[in-house]
Amino acid sequence: MDISKTIQDLRDELNQHNYNYYVLDTPTISDFEFDQKLKQLQELENQHPEFYDDNSPTQRVGGTITKNFNTVVHDYRMYSLDNSYSKEDLIDWETRIQKVLGNVPLQYTCELKYDGASISITYENGKLKRAVTRGDGFQGDDVTTNIKTIKSVPLKLKGDYPERFDIRGEIILPYEGFEKMNQELIEIGETPYSNPRNTASGSLKLQDSSEVAKRPLECLLYFIVGNNLNIDSQYHGLEAARNWGFKVPKEAKLANSIEEVFDYINYWDTHRHSLPYETDGVVIKVNSFHQQDELGYTAKSPRWAMAYKFKAEQVSTVLNSISYQVGRTGSITPVANLQPVQLAGTIVKRASLHNADQIEKLDIRIGDTVFVEKGGEIIPKIIGVDLTKRNKESQPTIYVTHCPECDSELIRTEGEANHYCPNFYGCPPQIIGRIQHFISRKAMDIEGLGGETVALLFNNNLVKDYADLYELTVEQILPLERMAQKSAENLVNGVQKSKEIPFERVLYAIGIRYVGETVAKKLAKHYKNIDAIQNASLMDLILVDEIGEKIAQSVIEFFENQENVKIIERLKQFGVQLELVEKFNPNATDKLSGKTFVVSGVFEKFSRDDLKKAIEDNGGKVGSSISAKTDFVVAGENMGPAKLEKANQLKVPIISENDFLAMITD
Ligand code: AMP
Ligand code: ZN
Repeated sequence: MDISKTIQDLRDELNQHNYNYYVLDTPTISDFEFDQKLKQLQELENQHPEFYDDNSPTQRVGGTITKNFNTVVHDYRMYSLDNSYSKEDLIDWETRIQKVLGNVPLQYTCELKYDGASISITYENGKLKRAVTRGDGFQGDDVTTNIKTIKSVPLKLKGDYPERFDIRGEIILPYEGFEKMNQELIEIGETPYSNPRNTASGSLKLQDSSEVAKRPLECLLYFIVGNNLNIDSQYHGLEAARNWGFKVPKEAKLANSIEEVFDYINYWDTHRHSLPYETDGVVIKVNSFHQQDELGYTAKSPRWAMAYKFKAEQVSTVLNSISYQVGRTGSITPVANLQPVQLAGTIVKRASLHNADQIEKLDIRIGDTVFVEKGGEIIPKIIGVDLTKRNKESQPTIYVTHCPECDSELIRTEGEANHYCPNFYGCPPQIIGRIQHFISRKAMDIEGLGGETVALLFNNNLVKDYADLYELTVEQILPLERMAQKSAENLVNGVQKSKEIPFERVLYAIGIRYVGETVAKKLAKHYKNIDAIQNASLMDLILVDEIGEKIAQSVIEFFENQENVKIIERLKQFGVQLELVEKFNPNATDKLSGKTFVVSGVFEKFSRDDLKKAIEDNGGKVGSSISAKTDFVVAGENMGPAKLEKANQLKVPIISENDFLAMITD
C-alpha cells in the first residue's frame, strides 16, 4: 500500500467534507464519521512525519502559541471605503464617476457589508500561504496559524485558480455561535462578550490557536487582487472565488443602474435582520475592472466603490420600570421594562441596562422616553434618553441596594461593574442556578432532569444544594406536578448514573467561579483529586500551567467556605468521582517533571503512543509541535524534515530513544 497516497486521499476527502459542511452548508457524512477519518489521518501523519504538510486538515485544530505576531507589508494596499448615508449621496457618486468615464453605461456589483474584521489571505499554487490583518492598510499582522483554524477558509483550492493572488474578506462570528459562546461564559460566571464584531476581531490575535479553533468563526470573501488574474469584473471575481472553494455569500447582485442599486438597498435594509450574521450596510462597486482602473484611488479609498450605511434600527418608547435579575453567581443585572414597540422586525418589551454605572451615565429614569437600538445582540439596548419628553417631577434612579429575591444587602467589589448578592446559600436563583449548572449537559449530564424540574424540586424543599440530588427517592418526587412513575424513576436513575462521570467534569459541575471546562481539565490532571486541590496554596495553583491569579483566588475562596467543603464531602460519600481514575503504574516517576518533549519518527522499542505515555508517566509533557518551549525532541527513524529544521533553528536538543530510556532509568 502506498502510504503517501493514502494520506493524500484522506486529506482530499476531509477537505471536501469541510467544504461541504462549512461552505456549502450541506454535509454528506456524520460528524462522527468525519472525526474518525480525521483521527485516522492524524495517526498516519504521526507515524509518517516525512509526509508532514502545513496545510493538512489536521492543522485546523490549532495548538501553536504565538507570542508576537510578525508585521507584514501588504503586497497590495488595503484601502478603506467611502461612506454614504442617503440616495442623494449615491447619485452624487455616480455623477462623479460619469465625469471621469463619460456617459457610458455603468454596472454595479452590490454586496452586503459584513461587520467583522478584515483579512487578506495570500494563496500560492492553490495553497494558503499567509493571512494578514488589515493593520493600517499598508502593513498588518501575520495571523496565519489562527486563520487556518477557521473551517470555511480553504487550505487548498479547487479548479482553475491563478498562480498567486490575495483574497480579501471579513472574519465574522454568526449570531448563533456568538450566543453560544456567551452562554458558556455565563455558565462559569464570566462576563459575556459585548458584540459579535469585537469578539471576531479579538479572536484574530489570540495567542493560542486552539482557542481560535473552538470559536465558530467564518470568513466571507469579497475581493481578489493580483497579477494575471484572468478576471474582468468584480462580479466575475466573486463567482470565480466561489468556484475555487471560498465562501462567497450568494446575496451579491449585479445592478444595471443606480435605481437597481436602490432596490437592493431597500430590500436588505429590512431583510438583513433575518441573516445569520451582522451587516451594517451595502457595498456598491463599479463592476468592470477596466472602469475601476480608470477611476483609481483617492488617498484612502477606491473611487469605484462606496459603502452605504444602514441606519441602526432605533425607536423611542417609554421606560415603565426597571427590574433586577439575580444570576447563578449572584450577579445583578438591571433590565428595562418597556412600553412594547416594534423594532427590527420584532416586538421589543425589554432591554438591557448593563449595570449601575450605565444607568447613572445616561441618567435613565422611570417614565422617561428612551431610545432603543438593536445591534449585534439579541437583546436590544437603551442608548439614550429623549430629554425633551422628560417629566419635570421625575427623580434620578436609585439603584437597588438589596437583593430582590432574598433581601440581602448587595455588595460591589472595587473594579467590578456589577453588584452581587452575597447570600450564596440562601438566595433562591443562585441555588437553583447552581444546581441547573451541575446537571447540565457538559457537567453531570443528568438524564431525566431538566432546569424547570430543578426549580420545582427546590420550591418543594426537596433539594437545597446539588448533593441533595443523590438522596432523592421516587416516593418524594412522585407527588410533584407533571411527574409520573416512569419519569420519577428516570430522574432517580439519571442521578445515580452520574456517579460515573469522570472527575474533571465533576470539577466543572461544582461551579467554582471562572473554572470552565478547560480549566477543570487542567486542574484535574495536575492535582488528580479534590483533596489536593483543596489543600493547594494560592502560589501552588498559580504555578499550574494556564491558571492565573483570578482563577487561583476563586478556587481558594471556594474551599474556604465550609458549606462547600461539606457538600463536597457528601458528594464523596455518595460515590461521585472526586479523583482521576488512573491505572496503577509501577514505573511512574517524576524524573521528567517540568520538561516538554516532542516525539517524531518511528521507534524500535516503543510505539509512538507508548513513548508518549512513558513521558507523561514520568512527569514530562508531550508537545504537539516544536517551539521555544520544547526541551527535547525524541527522534526515531524518518523524522520529518520540517521538524528537523525547526529543532535545529530553535537549538532544541534532539535525542534518540536510548537517550530517552537513560533519562528515565537510573
Ligand atoms: P469601514 O471599516 O467602515 O471603513 O469599511 C471598510 C471595511 O468594510 C473594509 O475594510 C472591509 O473590511 C469591510 N467590508 C465588509 N464587507 C465588505 C464588502 N462586501 N466589500 C468590501 N469591504 C467590505
Ligand atoms: Zn439574593
